[in-house]
Amino acid sequence: MSILDIPISNLTLSQALKTATDYLKQPACHMIFTPNSEMLMVAQKDPELKMVLQQGDVVVPDGIGVVIASRLLGHALPERVTGFDMMHSFLERGDQYNYSFYFLGGKPGITDIMVENIQKKYPQLKICGHHHGYFDIKEENAILEEINQLKPDFLFVALGMGKQEKWIYANREKMNTHIAMGVGGSFDVFAGKVKRAPVFFQKTGLEWFYRLIQEPWRYKRMMALPYFILKVLQQKK
Ligand code: UDP
Repeated sequence: MSILDIPISNLTLSQALKTATDYLKQPACHMIFTPNSEMLMVAQKDPELKMVLQQGDVVVPDGIGVVIASRLLGHALPERVTGFDMMHSFLERGDQYNYSFYFLGGKPGITDIMVENIQKKYPQLKICGHHHGYFDIKEENAILEEINQLKPDFLFVALGMGKQEKWIYANREKMNTHIAMGVGGSFDVFAGKVKRAPVFFQKTGLEWFYRLIQEPWRYKRMMALPYFILKVLQQKK
């Protein structure tokens, strides 16, 4: 189904994981995007971001707003599928099946803490490389070269909403990886810098509310939600 011109995959978390696992058998770099309503709204004013999201191989609803929109449009998506949960599941599977990972993004230092934390939790996990997300064009070439040499199965990219999706799209043909996925603030959660909402909030669709209390300065960005619902209702008409 399409929401504001962006096709969203009609998949549960476990179906999305299965689809992604099939990509590991194919040579090309597949793109996984995880938009919330805020990203879909930004894409309305940013044609490049819209085009990039339209090219995603798997595009899952990271926010409850997108799931609500799908219901309003009469094609209910099965569930909210967050980038964090997908990344977490890929790491668990990677530990089991020996997949390799590269992490790109996050503040210098924070990325190192995240890698340490993940390696502590999964001592056997193949983390082949990582780099923080504040690099210039010269460093970018070196990073792309490193990714190509290391050939990670998974490349997680956390460069902030929009930037990470465009970066993946622009470099997808230059990268020797099966799956490149934009994961937003997930690195900060794995590094222990930001707390994910308790399961109660996640299950009741109120994770945004918990986040608002933790990071009140985000309220302006969250104001996108009512406008998003209005736009979706216009699409319905
Ligand atoms: N980030 C980065 N490089 C940038 C901008 C952001 O590595 O140029 C990282 C930032 O450190 C954070 C993540 O991207 O770990 C998500 O950033 P933010 O929460 O600002 O973005 P959102 O995805 O919520 O828009």
